[in-house]
Parts: sequence; C-alpha cells; structure tokens
Amino acid sequence: MKELEELTGITIPENERKEVQEVLEKYPAKLTDHLISLLKKSKAVAKQFLPNKLELTALYGTIAPYEEGLHASEIYGLERLYKDRAVITLSFGCPAYCRFCFRKSRVLKEKPRMSKQDIDKTVEFIEKEKDIRGVLITGGDPFVCPDNLLYLIDKLSKIEHLMLIRIGTRSLLYQPENLTEDMAKKLSKFIKINPKEPYKSKTLSIVTHFNHPDEITSETVNALQRFTKQGIIMRNQTVLLKGVNDNFQTLRKLFETLVANDSIPYYLFHCMPLQGIKYLRPPVQKGIDILKELSKLSGLISPHYAVVTQVGKIRLIHNSELKYKTKNSQKYVVLKSPYTVKDFLKNTNQKKLPENCYSDKDGLIIADYLDGE
Ligand code: SF4
Repeated sequence: MKELEELTGITIPENERKEVQEVLEKYPAKLTDHLISLLKKSKAVAKQFLPNKLELTALYGTIAPYEEGLHASEIYGLERLYKDRAVITLSFGCPAYCRFCFRKSRVLKEKPRMSKQDIDKTVEFIEKEKDIRGVLITGGDPFVCPDNLLYLIDKLSKIEHLMLIRIGTRSLLYQPENLTEDMAKKLSKFIKINPKEPYKSKTLSIVTHFNHPDEITSETVNALQRFTKQGIIMRNQTVLLKGVNDNFQTLRKLFETLVANDSIPYYLFHCMPLQGIKYLRPPVQKGIDILKELSKLSGLISPHYAVVTQVGKIRLIHNSELKYKTKNSQKYVVLKSPYTVKDFLKNTNQKKLPENCYSDKDGLIIADYLDGE
C-alpha cells in the first residue's frame, strides 16, 4: 500500500487503511507510468484502477463462471461460444489491472501464456471448423507477448475460410508508447484485400477499450494514428461504470472524441456481475436511458449496448423494455437471447446450460442477469 501511495501521491485515509490492505491482498493493483500520470489528474481514471474498500463488502451472485471461462475448450487459451467466432486468450497478463476486470481470477493470477504448441493446436482446430469466420485475440493483453501474437496471426492468416482477425487490447491506454510503427506495419501485412474475389478478402482490426474522455491523451492519439495510417481499422468498446461514465454527457464526449480520432465506438457493455465490484455497476436500465439520448445524434456515436451473459452477448436498444424478477432478494433482468440451446451446447461442448439460464418454448435461451444498483 505504501508503494501505491508513493507512486500515485494519493494518501489512503487512516480509517480505510486496514480494509484497503485487505483488498490489495485479495485483488492486487498494477499500474503503468502513463496510467499513474492520468489518474493523478482524473478521478474517473483513478476509480477504475485504485483499490476501494467496497471491494470487500460488496460480494454477491454466483460469480465463478463469468471469471473462470465457462466455455474453455480442451485447447488451452481457446474458447468458442458462437458458431462463427472463436476467442483466443494469448496471455492472461495485463500491463495494469482494472478493478472491474471480467477475467479477474485469471488475469490477477497471471495464468501461463499460451505456448507455441497451444497456438498450433488452436490453428489446427480453426482450420477444421469451417464455420468460424472470425477470431478475437484477447487477454489479458495480447501485446504483452508480441512474438507469439505475430506467430499466431501469421498462421491464422493462411486459413482460407477465416475472414476477420481482431485484437482486443487496452494497451493504448496503458502503454501507448509500446505500440510502435514497426508493430503496426507488421500487423498491416496480414490485411489481404482481394478485389477479384471480394468474399475471400481478409481483414485485421484492433478493438480498443476506453471508458472516459480523460483517457484519450496525445500519446494515445499518436498510437491510434500509427495503426490507422497502416490501414488498420480501430474500434472501441466501453464498459458502463457507475460514477465513471454512466451519464450521457461523458459518453457523448468520449464517443465523439473517438470518432474524431479514427476509432469507431462499437460496443457499450454493461459491467458484469463479478466479485467485489457492486459499487461500479449501475442498473442495466441506465445504459438504455443513455442510448435514448445518443440515438438522437449521429449513428456514428451510438455503439451497440450489450449485456454479457454466460451464454453470450445480448444486445439492447434504446426502446428495449426490461423485465425483472427477484431471486434470493436480488433483482435480476430477464433477457431473451438470440441463441438456441442446441447451438449453445454444440458450440461450447457443454452438457447443460449455465446457472440462471434456461430455455423458452421455442428453444431460445433466457438468461436471468443480476442487475446493478
Ligand atoms: S484490460 Fe481487460 S483483461 Fe486487462 S485488467 Fe482490464 S479488463 Fe482485465
């Protein structure tokens, strides 16, 4: 805790020190120099990264499946939830830790990276599964192991039926200086547009993660430009966080800034129900209210709003009407997914649906999702 105080210049009040120490033992903090300079100036950034005593008291829900990767396949690092996409977790390490990390238990423990053999097995699997048209390479952060990232992409780019490679990263916030022109050039080589047979074109894009306008600095914009200059499309995902960005003005400014700097606001995710982050979760309805305001403006600044359930993303729109139920004194939003039970079990290789998920009369999955407050 002392080190954290020295680095950030923030003093933890005497009456909170014991609890904060306990939080840090359970959920460590990790920061980068760039992040430290930002959180000194921005409460919104600080709230996302500094330990909070509320992390101890606000435990609820059956949490593990969200954090542990329910859909892990037999190949280490590979997950498949949908028919047409696979997720590859190249590394569970991250240059910094968000308090609301959706893979807290794996990222904080820094499970081992995928080995070259794991990568080879993953590529073999995708080669065989012709329905897979896209992959998301994620983490942790894939840029913490650039050699493996390039090794993986090189192999993936040779798979004929694979059309779309996406890299999910928050490194543009953590360490923008590490995302060099050389890396951008290397990645851009994997974009293969085929004017003669457009259906056979292949593209590579990057999904960034910015939650607040204070995160977009000149260093970040320069890093974004290094990629866009090489023809790499940048899209952004944002997590809706209580007291950070859960209001129209903040998100409007964030999305407008992103668009102006060549990153497309793509998803706004409701903050998932995980251990210790109740204090960061607004009600699901809050996102719909914000979407209503955004939908009066250019479509370019209106990302999809989605709730991430254990059976996959469920999108909501500006006039979605939510249904609720109460279980064990907790309020749940009842969400109808577009996914069938049959497809889910087949894609994930599971024998039954996860907890709080069940079938409707048409075989579609209904998910009861713990609401925020
Ligand atoms: S960037 Fe993503 S993986 Fe890394 S700590 Fe934050 S939420 Fe977790």
